[in-house]
Order: sequence, then C-alpha cells, then structure tokens
Amino acid sequence: MKGFAMLSINNVGWIEKENPVAGPYDAIVRPLAISPCTSDIHTVFEGAIGDRHNMVLGHEAVGEVVEVGSEVKDFKPGDRIVVPAITPDWRSLEAQAGFHQHSNGMLSGWKFSNFKDGVFGEYFHVNDADMNLALLPDEISLESAVMITDMMTTGFHGAEMADIQLGSSVAVIGIGAVGLMAIAGSKLRGAGRIIGVGSRPVCVEAAEFYGATDIVNYRNGDIVKQIMDLTNGKGVDRVIMAGGGVETLAQAVAVVKPGGVVSNVNYHGSGDTLPIPRLEWGCGMAHKKIMGGLCPGGRLRMEMLIDLVKYNRVDLSKLVTHVFNGFEHVEEALLLMKDKPRDLIKPVVIIDK
Ligand code: NDP
Ligand code: ZN
Repeated sequence: MKGFAMLSINNVGWIEKENPVAGPYDAIVRPLAISPCTSDIHTVFEGAIGDRHNMVLGHEAVGEVVEVGSEVKDFKPGDRIVVPAITPDWRSLEAQAGFHQHSNGMLSGWKFSNFKDGVFGEYFHVNDADMNLALLPDEISLESAVMITDMMTTGFHGAEMADIQLGSSVAVIGIGAVGLMAIAGSKLRGAGRIIGVGSRPVCVEAAEFYGATDIVNYRNGDIVKQIMDLTNGKGVDRVIMAGGGVETLAQAVAVVKPGGVVSNVNYHGSGDTLPIPRLEWGCGMAHKKIMGGLCPGGRLRMEMLIDLVKYNRVDLSKLVTHVFNGFEHVEEALLLMKDKPRDLIKPVVIIDK
C-alpha cells in the first residue's frame, strides 16, 4: 500500500509498505477523511519524539472497516467509524488506574505515528477494535467527525482538567483548534467569563463563536498585564494552556487566582525545565494546581463526544477552514499545517465520501 511518511527528521515523502495485518482483536481500516495535527509537525520538523524512519504519519481519521480479527464482536467490514488519536491497551494497569493515555508507559496510549504507522496510508491497523472504535452516525459530516478524534477530545480535556465550575472565569492561552475546543468545553461546563489569547483574525472570530467573551492579543504586549487589567488585578479562576512557548507556564501561574487551576494540553518543546515563578506561586503555598495531560481516547470517549456533536451541543464545522479532495493532497495539507497561513485553522483531506 501507499502511505505518506516521515522518512527521517525534517524529511517527508510517499512510500510503499506492506498492508497491515489484523490480530484477533484488531481491525484494518481504510481512511475516508484525515487531518494533519500540529503534533505531526512537532514530530517531523522538531524531532519531538526522536527520529523515526519510514513511519506513516497521521493520527486523526475517520474510516471504513475493511477487516476485523476473529474475536471482534461489535464491528464488521463496511462500518463507518471514528478512530481516536489515542488507542490504548485497555488490558493494562495504567488503564485500570484511570490513565489509559499512559497504558504500558508514559504517553504510550498514543500509538499512531509514534510506535506504529499512522493513518495517512491506504490502510491502517487499529488495536483492540471493540474498545477503540466508535460508529459514525449519518448526521455527522466527515469533516466534523475527524475533528472529534483529537481536537475536540484534547480541548475538552483541557476544560476537564481545569475543573471548570459554573461561573468560573477562564483564560485560554492559544486559540488554534485545540484552544477553540477548550473554549467550547469551558462554555459547556458552565464557565462565566472566557478570555481567549491569540492573534489571527480567523481564530479570534472562531473563539467568539465558541464562547470567548474577551480576546487578548499576545502580540500587543505582556499577556499577564493584559489579563490583570481586564480583571481589575484579580486574575482568573482557571487557565487552559493550548499554545505558545514554555514561557506561558509562568504567565498562567501568574494570572490564576490562589486556589485556581492551570491545565495544560500544549506540547512544550524546548528546554530541560519549565519555570514556575516563585512569588506568583505563593512561594509554594498559593494552592495553585498545575495539571497537564494527553487527550483521552478509546471507544466510550468517542461515543460521548459524538453525542455532543450529534445532538448539536457543539458545531465543529468552524474548525475546518480548508478541505481537499483526494488522498494525494495529504502532503499539501501537512505542509499547510506547518506554515500556518493566517486563514488556516484546520485542513481536512476527504479521501472517499
Ligand atoms: P495552533 O498552532 O493552531 O495554535 C496555537 C495558538 O497559540 C494560536 O492561537 C497562536 O496564536 C497561539 N500562540 C502562539 N504563540 C503564543 C504566545 N506566545 N502566547 C500566547 N498564544 C500564542 O495549534 P493547535 O491548536 O493545533 O495545537 C495546540 C497545541 O496542542 C500544540 O502544541 C499541539 O501539539 C498540542 N496538542 C496536544 C494534544 C494533547 O493530547 N495534549 C493533542 C493535540 C495537540 P496565533 O496563531 O493566532 O498568532
Ligand atoms: Zn494530534
């Protein structure tokens, strides 16, 4: 089969691979729609997970089941399914402990384009199909469905880890697709004021659509000062970090109130340490909690998010600004994600309706 792959750090290209094979609990899937992630860019162009050779990229897909193993009970060839970016080993102690993202090792629930070939191939392999696939309802478009697999689950996890309460004030640092979903998740959980931090007009407009009440442009000066000015020097109850560099942790700690929560879903790609400002952290005594997590995956998570879309609690269509038709456009879509033109939020490649 053909796949679009990371050849080595900084190099991508089309390669030929053997078709994947299903074990007794697995499925083989043909993608119907795929989307590149900012994490694919970190993987290829920043060497975020180390070097990989001829590894098919991609972890955001909806598809059609083409083959299932002998023990798979709930799915059959022809089913149209949503595939989570995170496909854990459910028979692991970490999953029993409630952290399936880290099944059999830190971050090891993330398999596609990390430990095995990803979804930018003519076919791809899904471990434990009954636990890691979810049926795609007819009401949801392919473009929206592919946004569930990673962007929605990640942004919503930001809001979950932040423990948003009814009326909480929230600052969301970064309003790309992940931050936009953090805004939508915060609103659904009952946040009051939501301050979005970003600069590109297309993202600002979408942030307001998803529920931001205020926008702070980090290009206009220190975001700590801007958020403090907006809140009469009080700061916010919760911060969700979904963009920017390592300096954003110090900013988040500075603007969150004592007793508040800083929730991170951003990838921090440089330096050996992440600095926490001593005074703003109350010299260690401010009851300011810092959380960070990989997005939840698996079937139940997908089914619950699918219902939020199916029953019109969230409209994902605003996330998709560029649509391509045809597998051959995967490369173009990936490079768009690298260059982030000003009018881009997410590209989707439709392979087959
Ligand atoms: P985008 O690049 O689309 O968005 C980043 C956002 O951060 C933009 O709004 C950008 O503003 C803003 N930003 C850039 N610099 C700063 C700054 N100095 N201060 C404040 N804001 C800034 O990324 P995505 O939304 O696609 O992804 C966000 C992150 O989430 C990535 O690091 C990605 O790897 C990670 N991720 C994590 C997952 C997880 O499971 N935890 C899963 C998926 C992704 P603008 O462009 O408007 O100027
Ligand atoms: Zn991703």
